[in-house]
Amino acid sequence: MQFIETRGNDGKNPAAVPFSEAILNPRASYGGLYVPESLPDMSIGFLSEYLQSDYKTLAFALLKAFEIDIDDELLHKALERYDRFDDPNNPVPVVGIEEDLYVSELYHGPTRAFKDMALQPFGVILSTLAKRRNERYLIMAATSGDTGPATLETFKNRENIKVTCLYPEGGTSDVQRLQMVTEDAPNLKVIGVKGNFDDTQHALKELLSSETFREELRKRDLKLSAANSVNFGRIIFQIIYHIHSYLELVRQNVITLGEEIYLVVPSGNFGNALGAYYAKKAGLPVRKILIASNANNILTDWIRKGEYDLRGRCLIQTESPAMDILISSNVERVLYDKFGPERTRELMEALSKEGHYSLTPEELKSLQEDFDATFSSDEEGEKIIARYAERGYLMDPHTATCLKAYRELRREPLATVIYSTAEWTKFSRTVARAIGIAAETDKEALDAVSRKLGVLIPKVISELFNKPIVHTTVVEKEEIMQEMLSFL
Ligand SMILES: *Cc1c(COP(=O)(O)O)cnc(C)c1O
Repeated sequence: MQFIETRGNDGKNPAAVPFSEAILNPRASYGGLYVPESLPDMSIGFLSEYLQSDYKTLAFALLKAFEIDIDDELLHKALERYDRFDDPNNPVPVVGIEEDLYVSELYHGPTRAFKDMALQPFGVILSTLAKRRNERYLIMAATSGDTGPATLETFKNRENIKVTCLYPEGGTSDVQRLQMVTEDAPNLKVIGVKGNFDDTQHALKELLSSETFREELRKRDLKLSAANSVNFGRIIFQIIYHIHSYLELVRQNVITLGEEIYLVVPSGNFGNALGAYYAKKAGLPVRKILIASNANNILTDWIRKGEYDLRGRCLIQTESPAMDILISSNVERVLYDKFGPERTRELMEALSKEGHYSLTPEELKSLQEDFDATFSSDEEGEKIIARYAERGYLMDPHTATCLKAYRELRREPLATVIYSTAEWTKFSRTVARAIGIAAETDKEALDAVSRKLGVLIPKVISELFNKPIVHTTVVEKEEIMQEMLSFL
């Protein structure tokens, strides 16, 4: 399988590349992204063949179906990372919480958020390829709180990879910050930035386009890659759990093989939703993918009205910060798949030059065949958390946005899977407030919620408060480059 570019080819980049190349060097022509040339068939035949398989066996079969240029031994090594999840035999539990409503829990990995689903195996593949090629790579992450810990965790002590991670000081939960600043390995550098996530991300983008910085990297013989979901190496691992969740419903006798279901995805950069879209296109019986957003509801407008409009919008800080995004990178891969490279380039250039684009009525219709969307406010989210906590199911604020989408958008009585993307422990102050507990710190909130509801706090979270802090650097935006170069 070869990988091609969403905005067409500029004649300088190769016109098609193998998987390994697309993940090591994820920058495609004209600022586009890499996508697979075609999708494997994962319809009924594939589903019935793997109906009784465990997660790793299913994952291996899917990766093989993509015919990527990674040998079996390395694929198995990468998938062994799922053995670090709570239950190695079932890393993604699918739990029924009421009739027709199932939660696929994607947060049972080492950093308690769904980023582990892809970053754990991806880190093994990327660093092994780098080592084999005798090349050294720098991964630069800017995080609002979940990507940072998961990126550091997967790459710590891996040869030929260095990671720098920027986080907004005061912009993450205590748990998220501790997950980063206590991560002790010589190839990792964590830097707090004075400002919010927007400032942090902006600083990273400036650095990436700085010729001085690039020259300094060349001098150090360091290449740049990326570990966010612009990298297709993340997306491929985010197709698997949608298929797994469907098969779980069959195994639990909720549906029979072939019946359609709804998937509800809490979305930011649209990587998780894109994985669902690819699964549906490859043959998974999905009626529609329902996109849940928070007050930053740009995806709702895109899917309902065909308008992607940044004008007059500012980023709103919400209690589901991993979804506080206005420019959602993976929308581009859907545009490409539906409308081809010329139109994608036209739309993406309009977005960057004029701050908006509109789909034609036919294009909008095509989009709505696969997606529907809505959003919820923080207040609505807290009410949902409280209501389900009372019934014995505790969820985080990102997951809570799915419930409104489920109530509002499920037009037919089909079984539905909602994705839980983080454990409540990462957002404990919000969860505590929702159930009527005032807490000043995460530590207080964790203890109080745990006592009131009788839920356990996993050791990886409770131990954070006793671990030594190894990264103490907090800098102004202007000082980031110097700080990084002295580390490198
Ligand atoms: C990253 C993240 C999301 C958003 O996922 P995308 O793939 O970027 O749409 C949602 N919830 C949580 C908790 C996350 O960490």
